[in-house]
Amino acid sequence: MQGLMMDQPLLVSSLLRHAERHHGSQEIVSRRVEGDIHRYAYRDMAARSRCLANALGSLNVAPGTVVGTLAWNGYRHLELYFAVSGTGAVLHTLNPRLHPDQLAWIANHAEDQVLFFDLTFLPILESIAPRLKTVTTFVAMTDRAHMPASTTLPNVVCYEDLVDAHDDRYEWPVFDENTASSLCYTSGTTGDPKGVLYSHRSTLLHTYGAALPDFHNLSARDVVLPVVPMFHVNAWGLPYTASMVGAKLVFPGAALDGKSLYELFEAERATFTCGVPTVWQALLAHVEQHGLKFHHLKRVGIGGSACPPAMLASFERGHGIDVMHGWGMTETSPLCSASTLKLQHDGMDLDQQLHVKAKQGRVLFGVDMKITDDAGADLPWDGQTSGNLVVRGPWVLNRYFKNTENSPLQDGWFPTGDVASIDPEGYMQITDRSKDVIKSGGEWIGSIDLENVAMSHPAVDMAACIGVPHPKWDERPLLVVQCKPGKAVSRDELLAFYAGKIAKWWTPDDVVFVERIPLGTTGKMLKSQLRDQFRSHRLPTV
Ligand code: ADP
Repeated sequence: MQGLMMDQPLLVSSLLRHAERHHGSQEIVSRRVEGDIHRYAYRDMAARSRCLANALGSLNVAPGTVVGTLAWNGYRHLELYFAVSGTGAVLHTLNPRLHPDQLAWIANHAEDQVLFFDLTFLPILESIAPRLKTVTTFVAMTDRAHMPASTTLPNVVCYEDLVDAHDDRYEWPVFDENTASSLCYTSGTTGDPKGVLYSHRSTLLHTYGAALPDFHNLSARDVVLPVVPMFHVNAWGLPYTASMVGAKLVFPGAALDGKSLYELFEAERATFTCGVPTVWQALLAHVEQHGLKFHHLKRVGIGGSACPPAMLASFERGHGIDVMHGWGMTETSPLCSASTLKLQHDGMDLDQQLHVKAKQGRVLFGVDMKITDDAGADLPWDGQTSGNLVVRGPWVLNRYFKNTENSPLQDGWFPTGDVASIDPEGYMQITDRSKDVIKSGGEWIGSIDLENVAMSHPAVDMAACIGVPHPKWDERPLLVVQCKPGKAVSRDELLAFYAGKIAKWWTPDDVVFVERIPLGTTGKMLKSQLRDQFRSHRLPTV
């Protein structure tokens, strides 16, 4: 028998309609590239998004057209999130930190037709514009007064002129919820960028899931400050979840240093934020250096790479801020799991709780997760056995954009490329990325564990552990360390620091100190570059 409920498609525009009607007066605050702070309300954002939807029509953007953005987190970017997807076109967020050659390749591959950009990125665009084969119009996301006096870009339009020139009467069209809504390329940390095409349905389901209390835990009483960029995996869904629940939104623009972020958190009374560990490293350093306190921040979402236990302790013990350590990928929209506690953890002391929270966590409803051996057989959830992490669910990738021939799936599961264990309570712990795994004498050594120990040393700012060739063991771990400014530690001191904290044979064979550990475009340590750099490093013979 068929159900008799309404068959309403899940569309991104419905988030906007809801936010306008029920949270119309809620504020959206943005630090602009023009240098000032901009404030308005959801209802203004909705009206301007409708103007923009009309404007997109005037630029020949039709359903299915790909519209690129090269922009920071800000209200104009948010308007594009809703206007582009709302009309049935595809919002393609480009990562401006990519190499210009890669940017040009991605924009051509995606066939971006219109490209919206923040003024910061004009020079990059000018350098690649002659190579862009499909872009017909560039739109500078600014007002007339700040338009560049001269540019080599052909056909540049002013964003505010576009909005002003169009009516705010627009009916968001209703279409199949499986229509594409946005497109994001993987950051290419471990290979060529690949396009992940999200649908309205996958986005809405992810939004419902992400807003749940054990994950983003958002409500109309929250002030959300997304540090994670809107150009990478839709800022982990925060623009959508905030709109769904009517939370105040605060956008940091280009100012992502510790001082600027701290001041914005305090001034706007942010209660929740999300970002990668390297961003929090800088924020915590600033706060600790100046003896500052957070007066409003309640929760911090940390993911993208493992949250070092020392950072977890610093937020939780030092500042009384709850950490939501989450795991996900571009291919998974991204949120799949988070390490929030269960009732049974209530009686534990903070150390034991932090031990649970340092894991990558348990899945949210909608995501299925398991670990397998190389032959694809399921491995036990005993918290010890490591295997290939595979996931499936309605917001997990089925195929890469424009690659219909090769399905990445294995038996209907998406292989994440991560190596993990899962404990009997369902808490997953990443040991490594399969490409970063160190294999010594046929046994795995978890580089994340080794990095976490090093990063709990007071002199260490950042640490990466890589495998380097070894005549007897094939590979042995080498620790690459960046010290905190003005602090130092010797090689022997650091190696001694491992005693009792890990299996003895895991102890790195050597330590090298570097000025800066190279970071990728989404703030992750670029281990592939370090492997190239230290390939011929001679380990001391014991
Ligand atoms: P890219 O794959 O290009 O680096 P993604 O942002 O999609 O870009 O990265 C996803 C990967 O990031 C995951 O497969 C995993 O290796 C890593 N990752 C994400 N969150 C965590 C986490 N909490 N702990 C450890 N690794 C993480």
